[in-house]
Amino acid sequence: MLRLGIDLGGTKTEGVVMDATGAILQRERRPTPQAEGYEAILSTVCELVQALEQGAGQRCHIGIGTPGAISTRTNTLKNSNTVCLNGQPIHTDLLRLLERPIRIANDANCFALSEALDGAGRGEPVVFGVIMGTGVGGGIVVNGQIIEGLQHIAGEWGHNVLEADGPACYCGKRGCVETLLSGPGLARDHSAHGGDAALDAQAIVARAAAGEPAAEATVQRYLDRFGRALATVINILDPHAVVLGGGMSNIERLYSDGRDAVARHVFNDELRTRIVRNLHGDSSGVRGAAQLWQAGE
Ligand SMILES: [Zn+2]
Repeated sequence: MLRLGIDLGGTKTEGVVMDATGAILQRERRPTPQAEGYEAILSTVCELVQALEQGAGQRCHIGIGTPGAISTRTNTLKNSNTVCLNGQPIHTDLLRLLERPIRIANDANCFALSEALDGAGRGEPVVFGVIMGTGVGGGIVVNGQIIEGLQHIAGEWGHNVLEADGPACYCGKRGCVETLLSGPGLARDHSAHGGDAALDAQAIVARAAAGEPAAEATVQRYLDRFGRALATVINILDPHAVVLGGGMSNIERLYSDGRDAVARHVFNDELRTRIVRNLHGDSSGVRGAAQLWQAGE
């Protein structure tokens, strides 16, 4: 049976139909009607499934990547930055609406799965997939299987506290990795150190590359934080590969100066872990959602 993946993002919802070789046969994209609320989002998912299956000419296995995770306590979604989804029994509702078994996973776990199976981490036994964009997330894949963990929070390094006196985070703590390594986090840090508050992360990185001292200092702080934050994960998991995704993964220096910063902070005399950019780009999440089903299942 063909596999159909849906990536339920904060601004867009994307779906693909994938064949057994991993080739994408169909692709559809809709805006996520976040302002209209939960029911509208469910309808969008169902419409996408209908359109994709019509194009594919058959009923498919369905995997869905969502922001946040299904709470093992309440069976409802939690920790989602698409806040209207929080507290909703999305898995149960989609089972009912789509009338078949559905596999659901956190979007960062889908990213990690895709990159571990046939992306930049292909062939590596232990892969830590990292998303650094408007937020910071992560997922762990071991021998081709997502490690969800007892409480479905495995890999969520974005809410490890990196600097106890750092910026307030929506999760209630201060100085979470996300508040410092996300794009908005880098921009906030630049303005907190006297930089232009109108600049976004991309503009600050460009100015640093052009030799502007204040922007360079911000990028240096960012790279050092990246090193400290990722070293704590590597000290626990010791993965073979760390695959970076999200908008911030386009910062070239993460793979040179950032890697050196990780090596300085990791508990070893060398850093053998590969730190690499994702292969599938924006498609990793939706590919991983489809790959929640194995080819031939
Ligand atoms: Zn937090």
